[in-house]
Amino acid sequence: MEKIQCPNCRSRAVKNGFQSDKQRYKCISCNKKFHLKYTYEAYNKHTNSFIISLLKEGCGIRSISRVLKISKKTG
Ligand SMILES: [Zn+2]
Repeated sequence: MEKIQCPNCRSRAVKNGFQSDKQRYKCISCNKKFHLKYTYEAYNKHTNSFIISLLKEGCGIRSISRVLKISKKTG
């Protein structure tokens, strides 16, 4: 089962029908409705800033991809 997290309060969200061909989700805690694409974009934004901070720390792109692979496995 996929776990969907509310972008607003980080609580669990459940499927709530479709809107313009997109799966819509509703948070069980704050009742906020959202599309999954939104959370993916937020995640990518977070990942990008994470990569930039690693580059600033002097990490090579190879070690960064290794770190990201590990976090992908565990997360
Ligand atoms: Zn919520």
